[in-house]
Amino acid sequence: MALMGANLGRRIWQRTMIRLACHDGLRTRVESSDRLVALAGRFVAGPDVATAQRKAEEFAQAGIHASIYYLGEYVDSEALVEENVKNIIAAIEHFSQTNLDWFISVDPTQIGYSISDELGWTNAQRIGAAMANAPEGRYIMVDMEDASYVDKTIELYERLVGSNIPAGITLQTYLFRTEDDFKRLAAQGATIRMVKGAFVASRRIAYTRKRDIDDAYLRLTLLALSPGMKEAGLRPIFATHDDRILDILTLVAEANGWQPGEYEIEMLLGVREPLQRQLAGQQHMVRVYMPFGEAWWPYSIRRVGENPANVRFVLRALLGKR
Ligand SMILES: Cc1cc2nc3c(=O)[nH]c(=O)nc-3n(C[C@H](O)[C@H](O)[C@H](O)COP(=O)(O)OP(=O)(O)OC[C@H]3O[C@@H](n4cnc5c(N)ncnc54)[C@H](O)[C@@H]3O)c2cc1C
Repeated sequence: MALMGANLGRRIWQRTMIRLACHDGLRTRVESSDRLVALAGRFVAGPDVATAQRKAEEFAQAGIHASIYYLGEYVDSEALVEENVKNIIAAIEHFSQTNLDWFISVDPTQIGYSISDELGWTNAQRIGAAMANAPEGRYIMVDMEDASYVDKTIELYERLVGSNIPAGITLQTYLFRTEDDFKRLAAQGATIRMVKGAFVASRRIAYTRKRDIDDAYLRLTLLALSPGMKEAGLRPIFATHDDRILDILTLVAEANGWQPGEYEIEMLLGVREPLQRQLAGQQHMVRVYMPFGEAWWPYSIRRVGENPANVRFVLRALLGKR
């Protein structure tokens, strides 16, 4: 009963934070508030690509790689989509001039998929063309948004790969369908980033209890690290901060002969940084998701949705404390 209450409370909290993230009026006010900008400082690398590069260089000194992300999700105006696409292309050009090891994360809705599939695909090709001049090994990581975008997102990934544009795909283990999607894409030797899922999905299509979500992640982790998946050429990226999963995955990877670099561990900027450094120090390949840009509110408040303890950073920011 207590567990049921806790799960319900978690879903209500998460849903409320997602509503706050999507509230345009609030967003405009918050993003121009000097006090709340301190909240962005926790989860976001900075307002522009130069600050993202500095942050990535700081992490590189600890042997941690970067996954860069230009902030600007769920936009429904063509002008904002265009601004996003220009900034993503500029970030690719900028990071291509550095010696850093990076990939760039892209949300389908930030490049036009919330307006039309045609616009989204046209912009994806523009971003793909910019990747042609990036150093070997760099690629586009397609992020996964709410359940209504899963088909479009997988199709986008497959079209990118089919057009010889280097790409990976994020799959959310809380969705029932993911095991099938995972098996199909893994068999093609895909780069798959596995996340639990940051959205609130209906119990018709997703696990909703925390324990079931965690177990689903673990099941797919074991599958991803099985010898057959290594043979298929899968490159799994475990995007999680969960100690239990990290302990198991590092042991299983070693037992099954996976070398660091054949799989990766990815975490969010501002979340469990001592653990990130510890894992990198143990020679695991660790990457940090580094968002940058001015539109920091929806992203930062979703981090509060994932972990209510983060509300203390909002309060501290409101009180003007760092
Ligand atoms: C690199 C990366 C990319 C992602 N991309 C996507 C995506 O494309 N689509 C999507 O739906 N989701 C994405 N997510 C979010 C993901 O789905 C989860 O919501 C989030 O990572 C928390 O899940 P967890 O596996 O860390 O486990 P949890 O069980 O939620 O957390 C485990 C522990 O980690 C710590 N922790 C976790 N999250 C936070 C936080 N925000 N702040 C402070 N501590 C925290 C806590 O100590 C917690 O006890 C991404 C996550 C990462 C790391």
